[in-house]
Amino acid sequence: HLDRVAAVDGAVHAFLHVDTAGALAAAEAVDKSIAAGEAPASPLAGVPLALKDVLTTKGVPTTCGSKMLEGWIPPYDATVTRRLREAGVVILGKTNMDEFAMGSSTENSAYGPTHNPWDLDRIPGGSGGGSSAALAAFEAPLAIGTDTGGSIRQPGAVTGTVGVKPTYGGVSRYGLVAFSSSLDQAGPCARTVLDAALLHEVIAGHDPLDSTSLNVPVPPVVAAARQGATGDLSGLRIGVVSEFSGDGYQPGVLRSFEAAVATLEKLGAEVVEVSCPNFTYALPAYYLIAPSECSSNLARFDAMRYGLRVGGDDPSLDAEQVMSLTREAGFGPEVKRRVILGTYALSAGYYDAYYGSAQKVRTLISRDFTTAFEQVDVLISPTTPTTAFRIGERTADPMQMYLADLCTIPANLAGNAAMSVPSGLSDEDGLPVGLQIMAPALADERMYRVAAAYE
Ligand code: GLN
Repeated sequence: HLDRVAAVDGAVHAFLHVDTAGALAAAEAVDKSIAAGEAPASPLAGVPLALKDVLTTKGVPTTCGSKMLEGWIPPYDATVTRRLREAGVVILGKTNMDEFAMGSSTENSAYGPTHNPWDLDRIPGGSGGGSSAALAAFEAPLAIGTDTGGSIRQPGAVTGTVGVKPTYGGVSRYGLVAFSSSLDQAGPCARTVLDAALLHEVIAGHDPLDSTSLNVPVPPVVAAARQGATGDLSGLRIGVVSEFSGDGYQPGVLRSFEAAVATLEKLGAEVVEVSCPNFTYALPAYYLIAPSECSSNLARFDAMRYGLRVGGDDPSLDAEQVMSLTREAGFGPEVKRRVILGTYALSAGYYDAYYGSAQKVRTLISRDFTTAFEQVDVLISPTTPTTAFRIGERTADPMQMYLADLCTIPANLAGNAAMSVPSGLSDEDGLPVGLQIMAPALADERMYRVAAAYE
């Protein structure tokens, strides 16, 4: 895999940092323990993985795709990183991403975009485009992403790979550099559903270092993927979200979705239409809640604690001026837009109208899910309204960029599980399309069963 990275990553740019020495040492340690007759630490011992650069890695640079953290070497491992190491997974390096995970194309990285291996002129999705592109380019068989509004599922869809957002609280956020803490969730990315399930069981589980980590058993996702692989979905009820079609959806994506519905019926599932009327308001609610939390979380980048410091040696500048110069130089335009938006939405006099209203919409969306899951076992929709767009096509228009996450955001707002599984190629442009499967909170195994049968 290191050879493959050396051969293709100049064109793909999935990685920000390749940890050759660390990867070889980890692989050798696994070899030695097997030679000594020890049982492997996990089914994934010795398997290489690409890690999104928003998770801390002790002794290995972590930039979050930002100039603000250029050269920062974390003194500790995220819980996800630690669990990977303990399972014998070989971390190849850190993958490219939109700055602080804000974006849908990886074009907001301060280190240049990642290219979609299916067509190098197109985006690999975002914010975790590097992780999904590494899978699609066969640079790694496994990857980790984080999903605040769709950043695992949307890159999965447009690169023809599997991407899973576990139930919120299912995977520890300790060491995941926070963007929007009530939405952020790390999850597995892979080329097959079973691979994703095996990785899911390695990284999931209670962590006392994260106060929102759930102290419950990990959903049996590997068993569910194996059960689904038998191809029998009889007895299962699947709901099509009626709000996710129509204007703004490419005809090729909609035709792929119709074909997916027919396949699921052939596998024995009963498919019905379900209305979730408040999902229409998910995008505007998200773009108040996520920037509000971001404006608070990113206050830690104050030129004193980590990374960049501009003007720190100039005795004529006070601390506030140094902070201001540093944030001006260290943050890119999208991060600044969100900090300003969030600060405004939280300010006295506007808080109730904006943030308060968005939180009420969030509750209504959760209730839509609850009502829907009284009628069906899982919900499905296209993962994204369109296939991969061209690099540069949407950078001038943030609203166009935000629309890429239209179908993925409700699951983040409600905290339930959702994933994207490859759904063939669009008959319009020959590019990958994703099928989104959503399950109730803590019923992650249901979507794995359906995805494995469909795959
Ligand atoms: N594209 C969305 C955003 O820009 C979601 C990002 C994410 O899931 N990290 O906020």
